[in-house]
Amino acid sequence: MRKQIAAANWKMNLTLQQAETLLHEILTTNEIEKENQEVVFVVPFPYLIPAKQRINGKKNFSVAGQNCYTKKSGAFTGEVSAEMLKSVGAKYVVLGHSERREYFNETNSVLAEKIDVALSNDLIPIFCCGEPLSIREADRQNEYVEVQLQESLLQLNSETIQKIVIAYEPIWAIGTGKTATAAQAQDMHAYLRTIIQTIYNREVAENVSILYGGSVKGSNAKELFSQADVDGGLVGGASLSATEFTQIIQALK
Ligand code: PEP
Repeated sequence: MRKQIAAANWKMNLTLQQAETLLHEILTTNEIEKENQEVVFVVPFPYLIPAKQRINGKKNFSVAGQNCYTKKSGAFTGEVSAEMLKSVGAKYVVLGHSERREYFNETNSVLAEKIDVALSNDLIPIFCCGEPLSIREADRQNEYVEVQLQESLLQLNSETIQKIVIAYEPIWAIGTGKTATAAQAQDMHAYLRTIIQTIYNREVAENVSILYGGSVKGSNAKELFSQADVDGGLVGGASLSATEFTQIIQALK
């Protein structure tokens, strides 16, 4: 059975003290009993170790990096490798977030390299895809997102693709307060599953978790997550509030 995930993308927010308080509040009010559910804290690099320590083996909670570099190691000042993330206890790494694509020029082919380096270090990529507003307005979102998958992901073999988590994040909905409707999210998620089914097979497609991201809040999470092909969310702004994020975690159930 594929995983349902509530992932908190803190981006470049919070001091260590604020992060510790937020984690403490979320961890003391939430238990995840179901084996196919997980809460993932996607934290700034300096907070990976303290966040992992706070989680301290608590069932179905884990930490993730927000990015990693394409190279294994070496003279790349300022970069962080997949191996480093693994060594400090990260289970996942977010790759291809639209902010990385926009501000750091990450292309589909660079992301294909990052996917490979993450997998070879036993990290699970949370691969972000999604269209800008102009593409949505032209009703070309399916072909746009299909190219993102084709150029970054679909080189993987059928065993490996099942390890990936995909996050569909329409750019026009990220940090804007404008959420895709549940039907828009479901349509795209079903389409993504069809692409995977066509290239691999139905069983493989059914095993890939596909999260929705874009202004998920406590008030809309339930409706979004109840869609057949939506397996949880990648949450930015609302993950900085213990109350909001708790409601989002509860919506997994
Ligand atoms: C995100 O950062 O991945 C995101 C979806 O942000 P927000 O929830 O704030 O739209």
